[in-house]
Amino acid sequence: MKIKFIISIFACTLFLSTTQAQHENFQYSINPKLMPILKEYVGDLISYGVQYGFGDSLTVEMAEIDLNFEGIVEMGIPVGMNDNSKVEVYIDIKSWNKIDYNHKKWVLYHELTHDIYNTGHNEVKLMSDSIPENISDEEMESAVYELMIYLKKKNK
Ligand SMILES: [Zn+2]
Repeated sequence: MKIKFIISIFACTLFLSTTQAQHENFQYSINPKLMPILKEYVGDLISYGVQYGFGDSLTVEMAEIDLNFEGIVEMGIPVGMNDNSKVEVYIDIKSWNKIDYNHKKWVLYHELTHDIYNTGHNEVKLMSDSIPENISDEEMESAVYELMIYLKKKNK
């Protein structure tokens, strides 16, 4: 517990210092409910040595999205996908409140990867167009590992 907390603080400090250093006029708007998982994502990118950038702005917010897609993965929208000047992700607040921590993590990692890396569906398990009904901690860990290795190779 203590180690996890320290790592999270460390990732947060790195996260803010790198983003601020990258852009003088960098702007961000991050929902506090989404912040812990955003920090985990950036912490994973850093620890795996995956290059990342947010362009001029980072928006990770809740919204009320009425999507008519099947499957929970589409409960978010990566507005900034294919636009490297910004990252702009919205997560449906109603769906968010109904799902467990691993599903929340799966969804936010999925949408952030769409937006930051312009990654399509099905290239790795975490980017498939549907989400597993149950996600154990082990499955989550191996999906994140696969994603990070994939992103590292893709962004050399
Ligand atoms: Zn998707």
